[in-house]
Order: sequence, then C-alpha cells, then structure tokens
Amino acid sequence: MTDTAVDLVVLGGGSAGYACAMRAAELGSSVVLIERDKLGGTCLHRGCVPTKALLHAAEVADEIKEAAAVGLRAKFDGVDVDGLHQYKNAIVGKHFKGLTGLVASRGVQVVAGDGVFAGGRSVNVGDDTYTGTNVVLATGSYSKSLPGLAIEGRVITSEQALELQWVPQRALVLGGGVIGVEFASVWASLGAEVTIIEALPSLVPAEDPWVGKQLERAFKKRKIAFKTGVRFSGVTQDESGVTVTLESGESLTGDLLLVAVGRGPATEGCGFAEAGVEMDRGFVLTNERLATNLPNVYAVGDIVPGLQLAHRGFQQGIFVAEEIAGRGPIVVPDSRVPRITYCDPQIASIGLTEQQATDEYGEVETLVYNTAGNAKTDILRTAGGIKVVRAKDGPVVGFHMVGARIGEILGEAQLIVNWEAYPEDVAPYVHGHPTQYEAIGETMLAMAGKPLHVHS
Ligand SMILES: Cc1cc2nc3c(=O)[nH]c(=O)nc-3n(C[C@H](O)[C@H](O)[C@H](O)COP(=O)(O)OP(=O)(O)OC[C@H]3O[C@@H](n4cnc5c(N)ncnc54)[C@H](O)[C@@H]3O)c2cc1C
Repeated sequence: MTDTAVDLVVLGGGSAGYACAMRAAELGSSVVLIERDKLGGTCLHRGCVPTKALLHAAEVADEIKEAAAVGLRAKFDGVDVDGLHQYKNAIVGKHFKGLTGLVASRGVQVVAGDGVFAGGRSVNVGDDTYTGTNVVLATGSYSKSLPGLAIEGRVITSEQALELQWVPQRALVLGGGVIGVEFASVWASLGAEVTIIEALPSLVPAEDPWVGKQLERAFKKRKIAFKTGVRFSGVTQDESGVTVTLESGESLTGDLLLVAVGRGPATEGCGFAEAGVEMDRGFVLTNERLATNLPNVYAVGDIVPGLQLAHRGFQQGIFVAEEIAGRGPIVVPDSRVPRITYCDPQIASIGLTEQQATDEYGEVETLVYNTAGNAKTDILRTAGGIKVVRAKDGPVVGFHMVGARIGEILGEAQLIVNWEAYPEDVAPYVHGHPTQYEAIGETMLAMAGKPLHVHS
C-alpha cells in the first residue's frame, strides 16, 4: 500500500492519455500514467494501425489483380493468412516498442494496473493511491453491440476481425460507418462477397451526402453489396454460418457477421460517476477546455462526446497538458479535425458539410471537381472527386474528397479550412504536376473564377 503524490495523474495510456502524459512531462511536470493493458491503447493495438496494415495488404492484392491493365504479368494467388498477420503484428510491435521508449525517455512513470478514480484528485490501483495536482481521465472506448446481439462465435467485432485466422468467403457487415466500410473493403479485396447493412439511408452517414453517393457508386463497381435504410432484427448461427434477418423480413447468410455499430465510452467500473463526475450515457462531459465539473479533473479522447479519432485524442491530450501549464492553448472544435476513412476509394474530409455550412453561414457556394480531369488520378486508375464548400464570398469552410489514397492530400485542405483561407488566396500558389493534390489547386482556381482543367 503506497501513496504517491505527483503533478499529474493520467488514467488510460491510449492516444489521448499518453499524448497528455508526454507533453506534461516535457513541460516539467512529474507524471504518473496508469494503464491496465498496453501503452498505445485501441489505436495502436486494435484500431488505426493494424486496420491500415490490412488495408494496405488489400490494396496490394487489388494492384496485383489489376496488373495486366498496366502492362504487367502477375497473378493473385490467394492470401497467406499467417504472413498477413506477421506483417501487421510486426508494425504494431515496432511502434509499441518505440512508444514505450518514448514515454520512458520523457520520464513518465507508467503504472500497470486497473485504475479507479477515487474522487478528489486521486486514482487507486489496487491498494496503491496516486494523487495529482491534476487528474486526466482517458479510458477510451469499446465496440458496442445492439440489444440482444451477443458477440460470440461467428458474430464478431473489429477486435476479433483483426485476428481472424481465415478469410471469409461471404462476410456480412452490420453498420456502414467508418469501421464497417473499412473491413468491407479489406475482405472484398481479399476475395470475399461482402454485404453491408446500414439502418440510415446511406453509407458513411456522418459525411456530406455527396460523399456517401460517391462511395456507393464505387462500392457497386467493386461488387460490394449494401442495403441502406434497413434495420437489423436478429441473427442465428451454426457451424456452417450466420443468418441475419432484417425488419423487412429479408434474410442474409454469411460466414460471419461483423458488428460495427459504433463505439461506446469505456467508463464503467472506473469510479467516475461514483465520484461525482458529470456524465451522459457513459461519456464524460467537459467544457470546451476539456475540464470536467470537478476541480482539476479533465477528460480527453473517446470518452469525451464527439469524433472518436486518435489524432483528436493526441490534440486533446496536448491541449490539456498545456492548459494545466497555463499556456492557454487554442480550442480546436471537432469540425476542424481531419477525418479519413481508409476504404478503397478513401474518403477524406475537413470542416463543414454543405448543410452544416448553410446552417452556420446562411448562403454558401459549392464546387465539385471530378478528379477524372487529374492525370495522377488516372495513372492510379481511380476515380472520385472533391467537393468544396465556402461561405458566400467568404472563406472555404469544408472539403470532402473521395479517391484512392486521397487521405494523403488532406493536409493542404486542412490548412485552408483552419486558416479560413479564401479560394482567391490559395489560387495563385503552384501545385506540383502530376499529383493528386493538384486537384485541390484546381478547385481553388475554379472557385476563384479561373478554372484550368475543369470540364463543364
Ligand atoms: C477498428 C478501428 C479502427 C480505427 N481506425 C482509426 C484511424 O484510422 N484513425 C483514427 O484517428 N482513429 C481510428 N480509430 C479510433 C482510435 O483508435 C480512437 O479514437 C483512439 O484510440 C482513442 O484514444 P483514447 O486514448 O481516447 O482511448 P483508447 O485508445 O481506447 O485508450 C484508452 C486506454 O485506457 C486504458 N484503460 C481503460 N480503463 C482503464 C482503467 N480503469 N485503468 C487503467 N487503464 C485503463 C485502456 O486499456 C486503453 O489502453 C479506430 C478505432 C477502431 C476500433
């Protein structure tokens, strides 16, 4: 039984928690970081990194299948599942080692164990108590299911999907959001027949509706089936497969059902509610500066309502460390956080949808640039486009992009939106040719009234 007093106690060592711990240590604080599993959390071990490794393998499979179209002889001969996992796990392992070293090098004291917030400014781990001048809650999220839908056997979440030792021939995916369409894309590339079931009227319903339409068109071409506006009613399974029934009475069969219906806050059993932290359906409520209702207690990452993204967690963690150090960091609202979905084709967006912009600014102007006019897009043999939204005669407030590897060019769009640039400001700057980011330059030229490679 020990009592340890430090400047900062961080509960949860995922993206948000470790970013906060490291920044606070850089700023001179003594920091304890409590983690019950592995530093890096969901993103490194069960989220961003392993899924993107699988998506890259899927992209390579597609490239091989399409080799003849670029004048090469190659044959896709199937998936070496062990090799696939080795590739994925090696990347995760390397980054885990790197992160562990980084955290140690900053002088952060990592405590292994299950932490329970004890109220005040203390966290208990077993019989030991860690008290900070400030406490940051960062316990992350878990895969949700639907009432009555048990995760077992052939009914899996992204966690089991990442460790699957076989490639499904027929995969059913419940939920057409980010995680659902990413796994659908992987399995389709690896040879599965995939059907996505989405209750809302389109795939990726959180995006501008134009994006959903582009993705649906691309998925149709890739023969990824989807049923939108339909509700799940039940599932049965046996040794040979799963059968999902929909409220419409229709039923679908597959080798497995991936449940990708969102992620809930991992706050149960952490002592937050008991200690008087203001919560809403398990999420921790904060003000815009990430302070909870309790003095000197902050929350960051997926437990704070809003976008559940690793880089939002990094930003929030750094923000709180700087806030505590009295540095007055700027607030970055969720609408200014970049969003990328890594299916094929990728989706990348920043800022407001057309509807949100209209609600905020009254009148808006939009422009859709078809990347068919972009040579690099053609070289990559992809298709898609960029939709730009600006306030009428005002700054650019939203970029919505669809296309292979399009996430790689979101950086410029992010700067344009975050710096509230006008198309007229950006248009004079030169973009390298032939690149996909050149398409952003084309949108700015067109919006500034001087279109170049734009087909009407
Ligand atoms: C399949 C999938 C793909 C994703 N892909 C992307 C992507 O491409 N890009 C992106 O930006 N985001 C992606 N995400 C989301 C991203 O992983 C999360 O937004 C991010 O991990 C949230 O960070 P966090 O620190 O809030 O929580 P977490 O990463 O969940 O970390 C919380 C940590 O707290 C620990 N913990 C919890 N309770 C306790 C306790 N009581 N005591 C001690 N430790 C505790 C947990 O073990 C965990 O390590 C993906 C998520 C999934 C599931």
